[in-house]
Amino acid sequence: MKLKIIGAGLAGCEAAWQAAQRGIEVSLYEMKPVKFSPAHSNSDLCELVCSNSLKGNGLDNACGLLKEEMRRMDSLVIKCADETSVPAGGALAVDRDKFAHLVTERIKAHPNIKLINEPVSRIDTDEYTIVATGPLTDECLSGEISRLTGKSELYFFDAAAPVVTRESINESITYLAARYGKGTPDYINCPMSKEEYDAFYEALISAERAPLHENVENIKVFEGCMPVEIMAQRGRETLCFGPLKPKGLPDPKTGKEPYAVLQLRRDNTEGTLYNLVGFQTNLKFGEQKRVFSMIPGLENADFVRYGVMHRNTYINSPALLNGDYSMIEYPKVFFAGQITGVEGYVESASSGMVAGINATRKIKGEESVSFPPSCCTGALIKYITDRENKKFQPMNANFGIIEWERVKIKNKKERYEYISSLALKALEEINV
Ligand SMILES: Cc1cc2nc3c(=O)[nH]c(=O)nc-3n(C[C@H](O)[C@H](O)[C@H](O)COP(=O)(O)OP(=O)(O)OC[C@H]3O[C@@H](n4cnc5c(N)ncnc54)[C@H](O)[C@@H]3O)c2cc1C
Repeated sequence: MKLKIIGAGLAGCEAAWQAAQRGIEVSLYEMKPVKFSPAHSNSDLCELVCSNSLKGNGLDNACGLLKEEMRRMDSLVIKCADETSVPAGGALAVDRDKFAHLVTERIKAHPNIKLINEPVSRIDTDEYTIVATGPLTDECLSGEISRLTGKSELYFFDAAAPVVTRESINESITYLAARYGKGTPDYINCPMSKEEYDAFYEALISAERAPLHENVENIKVFEGCMPVEIMAQRGRETLCFGPLKPKGLPDPKTGKEPYAVLQLRRDNTEGTLYNLVGFQTNLKFGEQKRVFSMIPGLENADFVRYGVMHRNTYINSPALLNGDYSMIEYPKVFFAGQITGVEGYVESASSGMVAGINATRKIKGEESVSFPPSCCTGALIKYITDRENKKFQPMNANFGIIEWERVKIKNKKERYEYISSLALKALEEINV
């Protein structure tokens, strides 16, 4: 009973774990360290290429619900994230190196998983296979995916935020606080006056951008990852309602909310690195240093990683995949992760979990598990494989896609917690 998995990122590692735990012999192929995508640099598996946050952890947050569902299904990714978490208010953020290392150790130690470090360029449709090569699928495999999917492959761009060292942040200007005092004050806040914001804004919108190497007609910028300079172009005040929102962040020196505030979030356990929250960017590296150093507190910031912008590959899943993530045309071939059009680390791992469980079932001659759309796992599957969806766009976990019998609950937090309680109950009723 054998399964081949291509790509050992969030989805591939989770799929391998789920299948191996169920007694399947897994061959897990990963091209690193032989070859790296433009965004990957760590030889370990399950690398987080941008933010170190796996988003909200509470049950009033859809991604928090998804994580809880995964915990209840023995998720390797969430277990390792819990074990390597760093303080981040209500979010689950991790020390990215420790996280990737722990996942790698567990995968390597599993007696049913064989890790093979080589790029894969062929998919044998007679072999049980999960394709989990991610948004930056190596081009050696792209042609093969096009062969299986027809001409349904789509492209858009994501952007990553820069990281600075803590010691280079000017603490005489910045202050620690959580928005509206919620949770522990883990964020470092950089306050800006109107004059400082105006100068920064002018520099940002006129700064030089890195060239994009793709056909512009194929570019679709996903809202959640929009580069800060593109967002700024929408209007002078747009950033003050987005990543520079000052609401609920009064400066203790004045007792007042500044005109704008940039938040910095811890990027490693030691707290020596911080990322610029919401500052995904495609500016040239020198321009990032020049423009972002204009933010009060970052005058002498030491940038250990600059923001980048990359191609993102995903297939037209509603036309190609069944509800268990296998291909309609080639039932032994499954897809998982961001390449299916789920968006985000947790969502990718979740789809790897579903593909791993269901590939196992198919290999054993059993029925696939049907996850109800009243839980977040099932709602994502439904969205991704919905035949009616003719204008397919990537999707994160959110309460809008979860099905529930509506009752009137005015308070949003209470409503979301209620939906989550129903979701977890629905999950308990299926045999995974
Ligand atoms: C620049 C960038 C920034 C992002 N920022 C965020 C963020 O901040 N938050 C968030 O939630 N999501 C972010 N994403 C999305 C993120 O990539 C996904 O959420 C997640 O990593 C996808 O998981 P995956 O398992 O599908 O792919 P990956 O985690 O990318 O794993 C795919 C693996 O397959 C390997 N591989 C590729 N081709 C081959 C081949 N031919 N043979 C063998 N191995 C191969 C790769 O080396 C890689 O290890 C970002 C994506 C990009 C590109």
